[in-house]
Amino acid sequence: MPGLEDLYREIILDHYRTPRNRGELPPPAVRAEGHNPLCGDEIQVYLDVVDGVVHDIKVAGSGCSISQSSASMMSQAVKGKSLAEVNALVRRFKGMMSIEDAEAFAAEDDAAALVPEVKLGDLEALQGVVKFPVRIKCATLAWNTLLQAMSELPAA
Ligand code: ZN
Repeated sequence: MPGLEDLYREIILDHYRTPRNRGELPPPAVRAEGHNPLCGDEIQVYLDVVDGVVHDIKVAGSGCSISQSSASMMSQAVKGKSLAEVNALVRRFKGMMSIEDAEAFAAEDDAAALVPEVKLGDLEALQGVVKFPVRIKCATLAWNTLLQAMSELPAA
């Protein structure tokens, strides 16, 4: 039996080697761009929202395995979800990534609990990253870029 860390490493490498939802989307999908200068990671997120639900999402960019696998997992996790669910998932993921915000995370977790569909799934593989603070920015880059894309959505 492989250990949990081996399993997590496998999941991260799988998303890095075979990224999900890779590509671009034409307008009216919104586009946002994120950059992590500490590591040289770049992410572009294309977000197509119809009736408050993520109809489609594509991710482009380049960088380290953590940044790119996190982007792949993010795209997989938010596709088909409502914006409320996506917000809950972002909070949950950022809570997992931030040791300092553990208390805030506990409070946010109650809010996230209102949306029972929100599960981290493969994303839990990234929790080992918190042991390496410099990599946290790699793991959260896709999520911050997603938030930026959501902020650029036209008002419903
Ligand atoms: Zn990186």
